[in-house]
Amino acid sequence: LERMKKGLPTKQRIEGIKQVIAVASGKGGVGKSTVAVNLALAVASLRRKRVGVLDADIFGPSIPRLMNLKGEPNMTDKGQLIPLTNYGVKCMSIGFLVPEEDSPVVWRGLMVMKALQQLIHQVFWDELDLLVIDMPPGTGDVQLTITQQVVLDGAVIVSTPQDIALIDAKKGANMFKKVKILGIVQNMSIFICPSCQHQTHIFGNDGVSKVAKEMDLKMLGDIPLHTEICELSDRGQPIVISKPDSIQAQYYKNIAQKI
Ligand code: ADP
Repeated sequence: LERMKKGLPTKQRIEGIKQVIAVASGKGGVGKSTVAVNLALAVASLRRKRVGVLDADIFGPSIPRLMNLKGEPNMTDKGQLIPLTNYGVKCMSIGFLVPEEDSPVVWRGLMVMKALQQLIHQVFWDELDLLVIDMPPGTGDVQLTITQQVVLDGAVIVSTPQDIALIDAKKGANMFKKVKILGIVQNMSIFICPSCQHQTHIFGNDGVSKVAKEMDLKMLGDIPLHTEICELSDRGQPIVISKPDSIQAQYYKNIAQKI
């Protein structure tokens, strides 16, 4: 009501979408987008659901590269953006809307918010069972706006072992207070040697689950550092699609079963 009085948009369900899940992280580079994409693909292929991915990482959109998509979205008669589709998953990203040289990094706040409003409210998803929102890292204005304007059914947090303390520190931030956290995915804690399969716990092996327990967060998965995950992502062929029967893909599929 307070927001209505001030003329601010109120929280609403995105039309036609049954479940909305945000994938968030305390900082960049921890594998958040990789989890978002593989999770979306796993739900679409395993559970035969209609799935979309909204790339809300306005300053560093990686969905176009990960999903091997580029080009300008068409518009509906009503001026809504039509998502681009690959591997059976619909995607929308600021990366489709502005050329790389016109990077939002140098935009003023107002332009960023305008673009965000368009991504949140003016995309023609049609009917979806699940929308995965790839959030920007951290807990800034963009994240807060999303939690204030979109009904989120839950958030999945991605962290590497050395950054988990960051999540703990930020748990008090507004964004996390407003959203139900479904659990945490630990990424890159174990390195599996591709030639001899030897496993190395690069940052120790029990710290994270202990911290997660202290923070009262469920562990949704523990994904090793594996060169193939990185290489295939860079080629725009996420592992869940290109090597669906690999152990690596299975980690993401397991998370998909839990949400
Ligand atoms: P974020 O969205 O948190 O910034 P990304 O998903 O873009 O992170 O991942 C950062 C980099 O790490 C990418 O090059 C990605 O391919 C790589 N990466 C992510 N998860 C793994 C993993 N489990 N093993 C190897 N490389 C990974």
